[in-house]
Amino acid sequence: MPEIKVLPEEVVAKIAAGEVIERPASALKELIENSLDAGAAKIDIEIEKAGKKLIRVRDDGKGMDKEDLLLSLGRHATSKINSFEDLDKLDTFGFRGEALYSIFAVSKLSISSAKKGADSGCAVVGEGGKVTKEMPAPPVKGTIVEATELFFNIPARAKFLKSDNTERGQLMKTVEEAALANLNTAFTLKMDGVEIFSLPVIAGGAMENLKNRAAVIFGKSVYGGLITVESGSPAIAVYGLFSRPDALSATRFNQHFFVNKRPVVSTILKQALYRGYEHMLGGKHPACALFIDLDPSVCDANIHPQKKDVKFSNDNEIFKTVSSAVYSELLKKQTGEVRFSGDAARNKFCPPDLSAETGVKADVPAYGQSRSAQRNAAPGAADSLFEPRAVTGGAAFAAEARPDWYAPPISYLGQVAKSYLLFESAGGLLVIDQHAAQERLLFEKYLEEFSKGSIKVQPLILPVSVELSRSQLETVLKWKDWLATAGFEIEQGGPATALLRATPALFYFTPEALNEFLGYLSEVLGDPSKSTEDIKRNTIATMACKKSIKAHDYIKPPEALRLLEDLKSAKDSFHCPHGRPTLFYLSPSEIARRFGRSGSL
Ligand code: ADP
Ligand code: MG
Repeated sequence: MPEIKVLPEEVVAKIAAGEVIERPASALKELIENSLDAGAAKIDIEIEKAGKKLIRVRDDGKGMDKEDLLLSLGRHATSKINSFEDLDKLDTFGFRGEALYSIFAVSKLSISSAKKGADSGCAVVGEGGKVTKEMPAPPVKGTIVEATELFFNIPARAKFLKSDNTERGQLMKTVEEAALANLNTAFTLKMDGVEIFSLPVIAGGAMENLKNRAAVIFGKSVYGGLITVESGSPAIAVYGLFSRPDALSATRFNQHFFVNKRPVVSTILKQALYRGYEHMLGGKHPACALFIDLDPSVCDANIHPQKKDVKFSNDNEIFKTVSSAVYSELLKKQTGEVRFSGDAARNKFCPPDLSAETGVKADVPAYGQSRSAQRNAAPGAADSLFEPRAVTGGAAFAAEARPDWYAPPISYLGQVAKSYLLFESAGGLLVIDQHAAQERLLFEKYLEEFSKGSIKVQPLILPVSVELSRSQLETVLKWKDWLATAGFEIEQGGPATALLRATPALFYFTPEALNEFLGYLSEVLGDPSKSTEDIKRNTIATMACKKSIKAHDYIKPPEALRLLEDLKSAKDSFHCPHGRPTLFYLSPSEIARRFGRSGSL
């Protein structure tokens, strides 16, 4: 008796399904792609119970007749290629002929379809890959696929699915990406009977449609921080939306890249985007919906089973084109509508060898060359001039009861620019950035209260409602209880609205600041790379401090001295929570040097 057996068809189908259909969102992605391949002008999606109960996709595409409908359910059944050579000129999403077969293997499926002008449509019903019923259907052009009880026959996999909230988030992301990538197709999404969004095709062309969809999908506050780009080289077109440098986010949450209108994951494109910002990022992340159109023969979008990863044959050229498109746009806007967060940001903005005026072509360093290598090669004067330095050796003493910058006797001299406090001390002229110092103190106090579980909460007289994207709202609600322990009381206020009822008493936020803060928050909470609670806690404290309005700008002498004393006992008195210095010294000899005197007085 041989040991080798050929697996029964049913087992083969389940194994194959496992590779193609990982979770409800992957089934949905395949169904949407089929509708797009069928030329749909409108796709209506309905989901119940995070796709575990129902995924329904209805399109008005070209439809199938009875014969094709039955064939479509078989393995390697596709109308999209006939021979291996066809693979090179493919412009459809699917071609493997595995999606319907796989979904059918692990769900209870019904499909009804009709071609244009047919007298009757047809429908099939079945489960676990077996057709149980065939019947006529109304002759409405298009196709409706309904997959219910996904993984009903693979309980192990059903158990492996994430919480409803997580799966819903993935489903939404799938539709969001499809809607951003396919601007000529209208999309509607309903979940558990509630309309999540409706994105018609509006007049005005691709860019108008992109903006319209980005406003709905990213939420108003992120959308408000986006600028457009339309450039690139003749061979590589680059267009879309990306963040202004003063409207960056705490995480990579809202980054979407499309190559030839397909959502892709690509390290090169990500790096090119970041390179485009040069020094403007300061540890933050841009949001984007960036489209790259190029000759399909120089990229391969099908190397990944889920067809998301993309490889280019001309990495370097792609990198340069995308980063200079982003960079030149930022440069153009720098004098115009771009608002930088402050003078420091403007001063730090030291462009590489690229000048819009001289028409010199962007000379962006080759992909792979590290930024620090560049900096070391040609240290910019701007770096040393504008980056204030903390007292050297400070960090080593940071945890001590009396940090070494504290050199009594100290007397208060006054305030400069409503921002900097000047003190005379044994070490010379001590300059404290009052906002950075206040941020540091708030940050430590908040974390202390947080870790003791004793956060004082301030109910808002009028609850503040904040518009988010649907997936962001899901994330925030998922963390609702934890956020309550952080002092933020949040509820759902509408399909894409969060309602804030209370905030930590330590902070005072304007409604706009709360808006931005909640956007950040959803990103941090949903970011797996910030998964430990400690990191989340720290990030939230940092953001809250930044967004909170600090004590009034004018400070009376006793308050200034009080701030100095408080700072002295802070865990890290040298840096604000964002890592910027809080203070520096000008020694008497340094002052003398500036006046051209040798030695001190
Ligand atoms: P693939 O998309 O790789 O060809 P699928 O299993 O996804 O394989 O679909 C099999 C075939 O069924 C497709 O090639 C197409 O001819 C047909 N089909 C699937 N969905 C639709 C749809 N919504 N409208 C029209 N035809 C469809
Ligand atoms: Mg397909």
